[in-house]
Amino acid sequence: MTDLVLILGDQLSDALSSLRGRDPARTVVLMAEVMGEATYVRHHRKKIVLVLAAMRHFAARLRVAGWQVDYLALEADGNTGTLGGELERAVRRHGASAVYLTEPGEWRLRLEADGWADTLGVPVTVLEDDRFLASHADFEAWAEGRKALRMEFFYREMRRRTGLLMEGEAPTGGRWNFDAENRAPPAGDLFLPEPLRHDPDVVTGDVLAMVARRFPDGFGSLDDFRFAVTREQALASLAHFIDAALPAFGDDQDGMLVASPYLHHAVLSPYLNIGLLGPLEVCRAVEAAWRAGKVPLNAAEGFIRQVIGWREYMRGVYWREGPTYVLRNALEARRPLPDFYWTGKTDMACMKAAIGQTLDLAYAHHIQRLMVTGNFALLAGIDPHAVHEWYLGAYADAFEWVEAPNTLGMSQYADGGLLGSKPYAASGSYIHRMSDYCSGCAYNVKVRSGPGACPFNRLYWDFIDRHAARFARNPRMAQSVRTLERMGEDRRQELRADAAACLAELGL
Ligand SMILES: Cc1cc2nc3c(=O)[nH]c(=O)nc-3n(C[C@H](O)[C@H](O)[C@H](O)COP(=O)(O)OP(=O)(O)OC[C@H]3O[C@@H](n4cnc5c(N)ncnc54)[C@H](O)[C@@H]3O)c2cc1C
Ligand code: SF4
Repeated sequence: MTDLVLILGDQLSDALSSLRGRDPARTVVLMAEVMGEATYVRHHRKKIVLVLAAMRHFAARLRVAGWQVDYLALEADGNTGTLGGELERAVRRHGASAVYLTEPGEWRLRLEADGWADTLGVPVTVLEDDRFLASHADFEAWAEGRKALRMEFFYREMRRRTGLLMEGEAPTGGRWNFDAENRAPPAGDLFLPEPLRHDPDVVTGDVLAMVARRFPDGFGSLDDFRFAVTREQALASLAHFIDAALPAFGDDQDGMLVASPYLHHAVLSPYLNIGLLGPLEVCRAVEAAWRAGKVPLNAAEGFIRQVIGWREYMRGVYWREGPTYVLRNALEARRPLPDFYWTGKTDMACMKAAIGQTLDLAYAHHIQRLMVTGNFALLAGIDPHAVHEWYLGAYADAFEWVEAPNTLGMSQYADGGLLGSKPYAASGSYIHRMSDYCSGCAYNVKVRSGPGACPFNRLYWDFIDRHAARFARNPRMAQSVRTLERMGEDRRQELRADAAACLAELGL
């Protein structure tokens, strides 16, 4: 009687529900590198390296801990290229009588797993992924009966439940949220910290060589791979972030600088999302740094809100909304994704910087994703599903449970406002205020229309115009619609014509 435990590439945690309570003597752990998972969207090559290298290190860790691991490399003979195919072969190879796995992080695989018992002929048990603070049932219970699912209220619930930054029933410092102190433009400091770099060892070097071989024309650079691929390295990255960047986290959280892709951001999402770090341990470490007087409260609170608030909330929304969430297109945007999202070849300096660093690093921080690449796609009316697939492939931290609600909900308003009370649409003046991009741009951010004007300016009012009927009903957008209406019909016609000319000039 052998139990087979399937561990996926984003389930690299010691305390995984599928391992808990299993007897190592009668259990085989299956880990499989399969082409289907590497190619179902066009993944950044550094992301593929991160996941496969971390899987190989985690397999070694499990073996040391006494588990029998059946590890299938991408180039192994007979690799079927699919998880279902490898599971079937492994069940036969080991004469397994039962299969266990922790719930996958996206609907595509979750639904596929439901069919595995039939195809394998053995029972398949999908266990809850309890590496999160809120279970599906917890989120349901919180969301039930609410008119709007506002993150801020969910976040307060999570604070109460975890006791993080709480003094009894009251929030530390007398406020739940210190965000008002976190919106300053960046200072252009020459001594910004860099995330801790981890040079590839032999195992990671092999994966880098394999990915270069198998994906010669793949998306994204393989040069200078520096991600952590083990828990120890990820813990070192956490400690480094707390020492070097956390004290100023928040201050320039929304800023963007050409020469500094990271500012004071954590760059911990890849490790959290593949399971090398847990959300609670990360937040407890941040809280301890505040209690020790090493970081200010606005920084600690701002960081903890992202992790126990936004991260958990996004996951709750994703599972609650079901598998068709990724198909939503409330604004009926149909334009194809421009080619420059894949190449970074554009004269728009902000887009060039955000996409360029994405190609290099498989990383861009939140405001670059939301207010540059996301904002452009929203204004230009790009098909949100194509935008979603780009984000899902482009970032090392992208897994659908967190990427899809951020992209389709927060950034593209494709869910019609379920997740955000207004679309994150802005003209060039926002980017100008929060970055140093515009000074090096071929376009002029001060000019509103015509050739040479900033494309974000040329597209902004046309976006409001296209959706005026819908936005007039939204209290946070109604003012913009009224401003547009005051411009009069002739001006509106000019704005439409100028936006069309702008899109044509950009090759769209
Ligand atoms: C269009 C778009 C797509 C996104 N796709 C992803 C994705 O695929 N995976 C992902 O983890 N995040 C995604 N985000 C959220 C956010 O941009 C990243 O979590 C963040 O940039 C990760 O970098 P960091 O670790 O330096 O974050 P920091 O700014 O240092 O924040 C600390 C941590 O908070 C969490 N966090 C912050 N904001 C969010 C958020 N909005 N949702 C969930 N967690 C958050 C992350 O775990 C992050 O590590 C997306 C945002 C947008 C606008
Ligand atoms: S001028 Fe417009 S396109 Fe150029 S960097 Fe500024 S916001 Fe971006």
